[in-house]
Amino acid sequence: MMDEKTFRKDIKGHPLHPETLMMGYGYDPHLSEGAIKCPIFQTSTFVFRSAEEGKELFEIVHGLHDKVKKEDIGLIYSRINNPDVEILEDRLTLWDGAEMGAVFASGMAAISTVLFEFLKPGDVILHSDPLYGGTEHLVEHILPRFGIRSVAFPARNGGADAEKILRDSGLQDNLAMICIETPANPTNDLVDIGLCAEIARKYSTPQKKIVLAVDNTFLGPVFQHPLKHGADLVIYSGTKYIGGHSDLIAGMCLGSKDLVKRVKKMRSSCGGMADAWTCWLILRSLETLKMRMATHCDNAVQVANFLARHPKVEKVYYPGLIPEKSEQWQIYKKQCLAPGAMISFDIAGGEKVAFRFLNSLKLIHLAVSLGGTESLIEHPAAMTHSDMTPAELNAMGISDKMIRLSVGVEHPDDLIADLKQAFEVV
Ligand SMILES: *Cc1c(COP(=O)(O)O)cnc(C)c1O
Repeated sequence: MMDEKTFRKDIKGHPLHPETLMMGYGYDPHLSEGAIKCPIFQTSTFVFRSAEEGKELFEIVHGLHDKVKKEDIGLIYSRINNPDVEILEDRLTLWDGAEMGAVFASGMAAISTVLFEFLKPGDVILHSDPLYGGTEHLVEHILPRFGIRSVAFPARNGGADAEKILRDSGLQDNLAMICIETPANPTNDLVDIGLCAEIARKYSTPQKKIVLAVDNTFLGPVFQHPLKHGADLVIYSGTKYIGGHSDLIAGMCLGSKDLVKRVKKMRSSCGGMADAWTCWLILRSLETLKMRMATHCDNAVQVANFLARHPKVEKVYYPGLIPEKSEQWQIYKKQCLAPGAMISFDIAGGEKVAFRFLNSLKLIHLAVSLGGTESLIEHPAAMTHSDMTPAELNAMGISDKMIRLSVGVEHPDDLIADLKQAFEVV
């Protein structure tokens, strides 16, 4: 019999918070010799008790049985399922209020699997621009090989012109998916999730549901919950804040049972699932997610205020500094719970000054990626966004003055001291 603590979400009607449940939800110690922590199930395959049991488990995999309760889904082979994968998936659903989750070997594995499941030749995907470089490449260069076209709308307008751009393209009847990233990378422009959900609803028909997927890597899962604003799927690069220590690569997709079951089936076919060791590391990371995010964010607010006041900074791009009552501010109020810890800023000068500044830092590391405990800094135009044309960069407001900073959990005074001395050099 299962330990009654395993899936407990409340105490006498008092709902338990996700940060409380991160220490044990979905794991039954009595299935593992009483170990308080989940072991690493480093195994490729699982032994059946009998041939009959093996037959039944395969019937469940092929959807011949409608067994929805967790304990009924048996273990067969680690590309299909593994205890560390399952426990992590159950725990991840709690932040976003999702019915089901799927974990992947990388954020790109999650994104590509979702796109392959919900798109087919002839379809059109509507997306915000800019997108993460890997996603952009997939949408602009790989999907067209399969006859899938894309229509982009600028993140900087928050989605207000998305429907007009779709209609102007004349491709609205082929719309199958909407994909957005908010805040956008590296400009921190916010896209209205509710508005995109309305567009998805409007163009859905009884035969065809338009799926809205939101890449929530920058603020989630603590500071933004896209499913609550009408998104169908929420996607993460788990490499960033969820992993949080710059020591693993992973991805996630969460949503309704109906949709995530389809994603999981495609995952089994494409083979992009996460391994047990990575899942175990993420289970450990989740225990400190809430407090890491709080510290990241407190630090970022202080750093952003320092940058905003610095004479060598022309502009700061940070959700905490959006002018009140603007359209972007309205979106922020509607869907974000806190400004997060990604800051971009324009340094007075150009690439040369920006590089001198980056090369002068003594504490903050010069590296791409984000969301780790240590602060990371980079130059989008020359690094993460260098495959875009100058015209594209210009249209998105990414200039060679722009620097992107992922604020870590160090003492904020130390970060500010480092930035201050680097400004003195330039
Ligand atoms: C890093 C990142 C990805 C890709 O994730 P990987 O884990 O590197 O595959 C996707 N979207 C956003 C917003 C990211 O920052």
